[in-house]
Amino acid sequence: MTEQPRDQFSGKGAGRMDAIAKGPFSPIYPVIARQVIQTSGIREGRCVDIGCGPGHLALALGAASSLEIDALDASGDMLAIAEQNIREAGLTDRVHPVPGDVHDLPYDDGSIDLVVSRGSLFFWDDRVRAFSEIYRVLRPGGRTFVGGGFGTSALKAEITAKMREIDPEWEVKAAERLSRSNLDAVRQDLEKAGIAACEVREDEAGFWIIMRK
Ligand code: SAM
Repeated sequence: MTEQPRDQFSGKGAGRMDAIAKGPFSPIYPVIARQVIQTSGIREGRCVDIGCGPGHLALALGAASSLEIDALDASGDMLAIAEQNIREAGLTDRVHPVPGDVHDLPYDDGSIDLVVSRGSLFFWDDRVRAFSEIYRVLRPGGRTFVGGGFGTSALKAEITAKMREIDPEWEVKAAERLSRSNLDAVRQDLEKAGIAACEVREDEAGFWIIMRK
């Protein structure tokens, strides 16, 4: 049977994502966590990692800050793996697995200091609604770091070489996700959501949406 887009985040798909995150992708999470902290200047308060998958960005951020972090994902199988990874990292006091959907976030208005998300927005059904939801829950003074990327161009090149052996289709899919046309569509969706205080930072390793409230 052909694998549906959602299947890649459940059952064996969740295990595969965890293996990739612990293997070729592993160096990117601490690098991105440092970029998040440097860019936002936020080291404490409430943070949500949306579409956390197996939880590696949430864990890297937890290790690098005093943030209280919700690792939120729509997939129960991903969250089960995230829970195990959080336990193994000894961060159960500050990193909490939370079931949830970006289109209907389980938070009050203005309650979250920092929203991060890596590699998840490519799978959201309605980005305009998702961006509005993220902006809604952001506290005045809050920031986002939402997008897709590999930390540095050197890390991206290393990962691309390794992924060629694991999944021959991966390189094409990654290029499409970070393509000019996809980025233009993301910018249009931000405009439709009416989020003015916002910039999209691009580099050779990916792009990040920085909203300010
Ligand atoms: N952020 C992790 C990382 O970088 O290792 C995982 C990225 S994985 C490619 C995308 C994740 O987004 C999956 O775990 C998937 O379940 C989650 N996701 C997709 N649509 C979602 C939605 N509507 N709400 C919350 N999570 C979602």
